[in-house]
Amino acid sequence: SKKIGFIGLGAMGFPMAKNLQKAGFELHVMAHRNRVPVEELVKDGAHEQTSLAEIVKHSEILISILPADKEMEEVLLSDEVINHLTEKHILIEATSGSPDMMKRVNSIYENKGVKVLDAPVSGGTTGAENGTLTVMSGGTDDVLQLVRPVLDAMAQNIYLVGPIGAGKAVKAINQMLAGIHMVASAEAVSLASKLDVDFNMLKEVISNSSGASWMLLNKLDTLISKNFDPGFKLALMRKDIQIAVGEGTDRALPLGAAALQLFRMAEKDFAEKDFAAISQLILT
Ligand code: NDP
Repeated sequence: SKKIGFIGLGAMGFPMAKNLQKAGFELHVMAHRNRVPVEELVKDGAHEQTSLAEIVKHSEILISILPADKEMEEVLLSDEVINHLTEKHILIEATSGSPDMMKRVNSIYENKGVKVLDAPVSGGTTGAENGTLTVMSGGTDDVLQLVRPVLDAMAQNIYLVGPIGAGKAVKAINQMLAGIHMVASAEAVSLASKLDVDFNMLKEVISNSSGASWMLLNKLDTLISKNFDPGFKLALMRKDIQIAVGEGTDRALPLGAAALQLFRMAEKDFAEKDFAAISQLILT
């Protein structure tokens, strides 16, 4: 069976790793700050390593799902990791990072003979737990086929969307839409409450009308209950919209820019809450 080094055992990585374990893959993991996910996986047979170098040495496939570009750089481009890479290795990079960082990692790994798949995911923690994620992969079909059994253990919909970096680009576009739709859904709930409209009726009717969105249908209950346990942290959504909108003024994305501004404001108080907490800026 394939040996997998799994880096980034957070809200997404931990349930993804669990599914790989259930499918019979040999896992190599290490604790970053939080030991709980490592202990859980070790209980079910994962091997705990004490350094990134050991993870790389013990695995054939590396999977990373880290917060953002900064951590991709710190981990994937560390000497510890790079010095132990060989042409036997394949990297499945699942972080929602920027296309530029993905291309940078790939060019360095390519020089080492390492095959890379740009493979961000969608579907949330529920999708990660149920093994029903969507994978937006960038790279070649050859590499995708090599790791297909690994992806199949975690995901239901696996797309090849273009070359390295294209996965990250499609993910950023999805996230810009998701962020805008969340703001729009919060505004819908706010208006419904001002107009004394029943929320359940609203959900039922709009689900069969032109204003429907995945976000409204799936997050309405969270917006009403105001239970903002993450989920998907608001700070990560801000990061994703920023990747899409960029820093400059070269991309004319008025709604994306407005959403970014709102998420930046909300980040001051709600960074670690679910991104539905953006509604706290909107609901009165
Ligand atoms: P979390 O913050 O829950 O998890 C991040 C993980 O990375 C933690 O296990 C953390 O360890 C680890 N980590 C951070 N820095 C390092 C480092 N330097 N070395 C090793 N490990 C490190 O985030 P999520 O799991 O929610 O998200 C991960 C990625 O997936 C993000 O890019 C996010 O945008 C994306 N994503 C998230 C979804 C969601 O619904 N949550 C859905 C789809 C994509 P520790 O806790 O010990 O510090």
